[in-house]
Amino acid sequence: MAEQAPSKVTMEKLVSLCQRRGFIFPSSEIYGGLSSLWDYGPLGVELKQNVKQAWWRAIVQERDDVVGLDASIMMHPQTWVASGHLQQFADPLVECKRCHLRWRTDEATDNSCPSCGGELTEPHLFNLMFKTFMGPVEEEASVIYLRPETAQGIFVNFQNVLNTTRKRLPFGIAQIGKAFRNEITTGNFIFRSREFEQMELEYFVKPETADEWFDYWVEERRKWYVSLGIKENNLRLREHTKEELAHYARKCYDIDYLFPMGWAELEGIANRGDFDLRQHAQHSGKSLTYLDEETKEHIVPYIIEPSAGVDRSVLAFLCDAYDEEPDKEEIRVLLHLHPTLAPIKVAVLPLSKRENLVQLAKEIYADLRRSWMVQYDDTQSIGRRYRRQDEIGTPFCVTIDFQSLEDNQVTLRERDTMNQIRLPIAELKKTLAAKLAGEPLFVLPPGGQIWKEERKE
Ligand code: ATP
Repeated sequence: MAEQAPSKVTMEKLVSLCQRRGFIFPSSEIYGGLSSLWDYGPLGVELKQNVKQAWWRAIVQERDDVVGLDASIMMHPQTWVASGHLQQFADPLVECKRCHLRWRTDEATDNSCPSCGGELTEPHLFNLMFKTFMGPVEEEASVIYLRPETAQGIFVNFQNVLNTTRKRLPFGIAQIGKAFRNEITTGNFIFRSREFEQMELEYFVKPETADEWFDYWVEERRKWYVSLGIKENNLRLREHTKEELAHYARKCYDIDYLFPMGWAELEGIANRGDFDLRQHAQHSGKSLTYLDEETKEHIVPYIIEPSAGVDRSVLAFLCDAYDEEPDKEEIRVLLHLHPTLAPIKVAVLPLSKRENLVQLAKEIYADLRRSWMVQYDDTQSIGRRYRRQDEIGTPFCVTIDFQSLEDNQVTLRERDTMNQIRLPIAELKKTLAAKLAGEPLFVLPPGGQIWKEERKE
């Protein structure tokens, strides 16, 4: 693999940029924040939606073998008995008898509290699911849980989807939604939080084809990240050892990303075998089989599950996009976000606040907004405005100057190359559409001109 320049991103820089520019804030910040919970600000919500939309397009809309689902977050408590989460989804913890902090057994190795040195209790299992009560009485019979993964909502709807869509194997059901885990080890910004979103696909296959489909989905998912701009060298595949495998999994690969704190899981792809459908059939008493029309046999399909985290993807896309360039005494910070993911696609910038310029700029702004997320900015110098857009990853800026009033032309400037061209307003939308769809270079209109934005040195 080709050598790569060391990344300029650190978690501190990213957290600071995210807060400063309105991507991500600590949850309930005015009350001092709440540990490992985050709120997405005006730019963050756009980026996150674009990530989810790109996944949904690739997994559901562009395929004819996958359908979507949106199941409820709270499910029948028997779900978690059948899935194994009530018995298995637990970490052994020790508690400090003095300060009552809880630690994972591997964090408190010398049998004293890493925080205050106090004596520790014997280890006991601590379930990672959030518990609550449904209905007016807080008693054992009304205990329910917030789902720790979206997958179970898909398994319990297997028969509903099969009956209503008449899909034949292999086919998949996809879902994006919130999941909750009372994680013990948190930190690293949005990498591991207690409330997060997952994008999960459960792909049902004939058992004898499971290995083939497993390999297919590992490659498909790896390619998805690359297609949205993640550098290949920052991704690796890691197979789970026998000891690591979850109780339901026959085989599992992690797609790891090289985050600033090191390699860590971005997405897991598991061969879940027939574990889930068998468990739910047994606990519900309902048949969850598939009639193979060729052999006339009822079979229990195997499941291949690519399970990705929305927030971890957002973090990976941000880390990968982050860049710094020298720019006179300052540093030009920019996010090379893929146009599909960039929160703002185009910024409209009139050179001055003079009325006739503003009027033309606003007309262009109104027109572009019908197609894209566009920002209008007429404050401060044009150089500063370009830098502000670079820092939030806006791929294109349109500048309207006094000459525009005479010749009906504007300047289009590209974030990554800082190249600029002048083109007729009538050509603007068409050119932007082509560029945002991934055309590599400006297509010059007849007689057109291309030049470099002047740097400050
Ligand atoms: P980890 O061991 O890193 O906590 P996991 O192996 O428990 O992750 P899975 O159960 O495989 O995670 O969940 C699938 C995906 O959901 C993960 O690859 C990750 O992207 C995301 N995910 C899981 N837990 C969290 C969390 N606490 N915060 C953010 N994303 C999460």
